[in-house]
Order: sequence, then structure tokens, then C-alpha cells
Amino acid sequence: MAAIREDRLVDTAVALVEVPSPTCEAGAVADRLASLLVEDGFAVERPVAAWPTAPAVVTRLDGGAPGPTLQFDGHLDTVHLPFVPPRVEGGILHGSGASDMKGGVAAMCEATRALRDAGALTAGSILLTAHDHHEAPWGDGRQLEALIDEGYVGDAALLPEYLSDSLPIAGRGLAILKVTVRRDGEPVHEVLGGTEQPSVIAAGAELVRRFEQLDETLSHRKHPVAGRERIFVGSVQAGEMYNTAPTALTLDGTRRWIPGTSNADVQQELDDLVTQVARERGLPIELAFRPLRGAFELDPAHPVVAAFQHAHEAVVGAALPAGPKPLVDDGNTFSDRAGIPAITHGPRATGAHTVDEQAPVSELVRVARIYARTALSFCAGPTT
Ligand SMILES: [Zn+2]
Repeated sequence: MAAIREDRLVDTAVALVEVPSPTCEAGAVADRLASLLVEDGFAVERPVAAWPTAPAVVTRLDGGAPGPTLQFDGHLDTVHLPFVPPRVEGGILHGSGASDMKGGVAAMCEATRALRDAGALTAGSILLTAHDHHEAPWGDGRQLEALIDEGYVGDAALLPEYLSDSLPIAGRGLAILKVTVRRDGEPVHEVLGGTEQPSVIAAGAELVRRFEQLDETLSHRKHPVAGRERIFVGSVQAGEMYNTAPTALTLDGTRRWIPGTSNADVQQELDDLVTQVARERGLPIELAFRPLRGAFELDPAHPVVAAFQHAHEAVVGAALPAGPKPLVDDGNTFSDRAGIPAITHGPRATGAHTVDEQAPVSELVRVARIYARTALSFCAGPTT
């Protein structure tokens, strides 16, 4: 614990926040992280992992004896909002990515350095990975998926996103929907033939009604922790003015589902619904279904949970209560695609997805301590 250095952690966080990295453009900040790690004596790999604009950053710390690998994984990209440069004021780190999640990335680096400096890791290993392409709608998660497919996967993962009050054990998968209804021809004035055209607005209304019925059905698909499945419509766009028949309607929304339901099931259900409405209305309807992350589940009996809870207790004084994961994050990808347990736990920070991101330095230090302690007990345990 003494090997965790607040000054070094803060310097790293500032060095990362300083380099703007909107999603899909995190190349420069990945270079910055890589050079910081190299300067600090770590061997760094830069797998392209499906995103040549910003090769990922990977480093390892080997305990010298066989044992499980604990992965620390973070994203280096930030949402597309005006850039705010870093500053530390009154013990709080401000700036783009301070809470989501460069502060957390700096904390996981510091945990790794401290374990190295103290020579504390005597078995197993740490695999540290950092990447781009996380934030939707700009990114589609492809870089982490490629890292997983290429084998950059530990036996369990910790992700320093800004959740800190509970241990997320279940969460819903999420897809974004865009449904487009079109008819042939041009917009037509209502009294000059507009009412003779098939109505894209009536077809859109029918879709909204069917989605509402589907949502009622989905309300019975419940998970005790993750909550219920849902279909939600957030935007409907059609028409240019009050007395002209339009040629297109678009409807945007989300679909969330619980563990046990797959992306493919959900897509099939929607395809069927849309095909039926298209047939009834005699209009082509196109469904763009974009799964962002699958559903998430964490086995509370996995050794990484005990290791994490002991660490949390040692650092904070109590274990965390189990709870839902309200958002989707890369932990869902680890759970769904890599089949490994993933714990999302990061600083109690504010302002994610706003221009006013804030992460208390004390929280970053706390996260570094918990990560280091979790590694000590998990990596010393039996290989899972
Ligand atoms: Zn994030």
C-alpha cells in the first residue's frame, strides 16, 4: 500500500487527460500511455486490434510463479464534447475523461507499478489493457472485441468505470434501433394526391403501437437484479410540413434484455415484427439493429469476487453490497464474449458524459489500493 504513490498517479492522470481523445481518435493518448509505461520500465505491446488509428496498449507484470491472471482494462477514448484541459484543484482532478475514465486508467497503472516496485506479486500475473472505440454511438466496441479474440484476456477483469457503491452482478444488454419506413415518389400536397399515397406516418404509428405491445410482453421477462427487458422509442421523425404527405419516417429507440436472452433472439423478434407491419402496410420497412453490449452476469462465487471484497474491506472497511449494473460497459463484453468474470469498480466520480468531469484524487488512490490488493490475493490463488 505504501508503494502506491499519489503524485505519480496524479501525474499520469493529468498526462492522459491532457491529450484529447474523442472516441475513434485515441491514437495520441494511447501513444502517451505507452511511452509513460516504457519510461517506467514496462515492456509494452501495441496490438492493432481492428483499429489501426489507435493501436491498443498492453503491458504485463509477472509474479514469477504460476497462478491466475488478473486483467485491468480501461478505455482511453472520451465522449465527443468540447475538450476540457486537466487541472487539479482542491484535491479534485478536472478535465475531459477525468471520471470516464482516464482517472481510473491512471489508478490501474499505479496499482501495477506499486506491485512491481514492492515486488509484492509473487504468483500469477497482471495483464493491463487500454483501448479505443468504447463510447457509443461513435465507437462500436470493436477494439476490445478484437483484443479478446486475439487472446488478450485474463482469468478475470477489473474495470475502473465510475461505479463504486455496489458490486454489479447483473446487467442488461443494450441495442440501438433505427427503423425507417419509406414509400416511392416525392412529397405530395394533401389535396393534390397526398392522401392517395401509402402513409409512412400511419405505418410509423402502427410500429409504435406494436412496440408498446411488445414492451408489455417484455415487462414479464425479469431478472431479480438486472430488472426487466424493455423496448423504448426516443425519437420519431417524419414530414416537412402540415399538409404534405412525406416519403419517409424514422424511429429511434433502444432495446434492453436480461441475461439468458441473446442478441440474436432479440433481433429475430424485432425482424419478425417489422416484417409483419411492412406486409400489412405494403411499405418497405428497414430495421437497423445495432447491439452495443450483451447482457452481463457475474458469478458471486468466483474467486475474483472474494478477492475483490477482501480488498474492499481492507481498504474501505466493509465489503460492497451486490447490486445491478445500471449501464452497459466493457464488463458486459468480457462476460458475454470472453466468458470471464468482470468487476466494474472505479472512483466515486461525477460528470461522466458532461463537460464537467471530476474525480477526487483520494478516490483514485482508493481504486489503486483496491486493485493492487485484489491482485495480491487473486493471483496467489488456484488457477481458475
Ligand atoms: Zn467509460
